[in-house]
Amino acid sequence: MEFVSEQENKGIWRVKGSRIPKKRDMVAGIITPDRNREQEAYYLTPAARDAGTGLLNKRAWTEYTIEQLNRKDGQVRWLVIIDIDDFKHINDTYGHIFGDQVIRRVAEIMQELVGQRGVIGRFGGDEYVILLEKVETREQLKTLLKTIAKEFALAFDPKTHATASIGVSEYPVDGSEYEELMRKADKALYLAKEKGKNRHIIYEERLHGKLESDDMQNMAMAYAVSKEKKREVITKMITELCVSDVNSIVKKEERLQQIRSLFDLDGITIYSESGAQLVCRNGNYMVEVPDGRGLFEDEKYLALFGDDDNFIESNTLKLRSQDPAAFAVMQKQEIGAFLQCLCRKEGVPNVIVNFDVFNRNRKWSDEDITLLTILGHCIGNLLNYSE
Ligand code: GH3
Ligand code: MG
Repeated sequence: MEFVSEQENKGIWRVKGSRIPKKRDMVAGIITPDRNREQEAYYLTPAARDAGTGLLNKRAWTEYTIEQLNRKDGQVRWLVIIDIDDFKHINDTYGHIFGDQVIRRVAEIMQELVGQRGVIGRFGGDEYVILLEKVETREQLKTLLKTIAKEFALAFDPKTHATASIGVSEYPVDGSEYEELMRKADKALYLAKEKGKNRHIIYEERLHGKLESDDMQNMAMAYAVSKEKKREVITKMITELCVSDVNSIVKKEERLQQIRSLFDLDGITIYSESGAQLVCRNGNYMVEVPDGRGLFEDEKYLALFGDDDNFIESNTLKLRSQDPAAFAVMQKQEIGAFLQCLCRKEGVPNVIVNFDVFNRNRKWSDEDITLLTILGHCIGNLLNYSE
């Protein structure tokens, strides 16, 4: 890195083995004059700092990273992109001022944990980047990323659901040029989002496929479209429910499968008549259907539904202490996460619509929660009317 000497014979100096200091008036390293550079590097100017976090802004981080990659001195190891999950929801629920605090706190956590091992930038919005240098092995990298995730979880009230998704590419395995490394890290980030967020994915061609030239654009489109697509399909299904009847969905295999594939669900089970009637069971459930009546008679279980009559669980294990009987039913079916809608008939619980995920946890996105609960309650209420 370089800085401009304050001495009379102003010039550009090269500082070997130094870091970008948090405070610009401090620098450490072996200083030698560098007559090849005419100008001060942008990333050292005050304008290079993002006002919200003090991190390098996009232009500065990019310039710094390209410079480091061009050096090819083997220091660079990983390019990491971090995007806060469902940040719009955090803003909408707690306000922009709180949103800004989250952005700052996330930056602080990363600075504390990355320390001297890399340089962090903010790409705008809720996206950050890290050029990691002194993290030698994949295991060390994973440990760091897990620690970052853990510290996020501890930093905010659990109700905030402040989590992040992370994509990583490796230098020089995934490429030696900036563009290629960024596109691969970005692809890994999209995959992390698609797989349910709150996770990191380290790009591996063997697992994640080759990167075509327009792949990123397609990925971005696919991700953006999927939200739209979900809305479109659910809107159509609800219209169908209104003009036709509830059987147009609950008795139609292909409709249930469409919901499952659209929302990455493994199973859908619906009970009516307070559990006496199994309306449908779609998906590869491992065991015979349990008697639904047990759930409707289980006061502890019913109490776990919110005021909106929804029960959303990202990890079924949490149910173990809350309601051991219901937990046993879920565990038998290997349900790892679920979203359930309870519909009452004259105040009495009568229908439960279960959207299930097997053998894995699932961080439900707001979009999915909204759409699935609307659909679930439409189906449930129609079943109540049609009995
Ligand atoms: P995803 O999990 O898919 O990333 O969903 P998301 O809601 O986080 O969506 P996205 O990353 O696209 O949205 C980021 C939002 O962050 C959009 C914008 O309203 C908000 N935002 C951008 N910059 C700032 C900021 O400086 N402060 C605050 N409070 N909000 C910001
Ligand atoms: Mg985001």
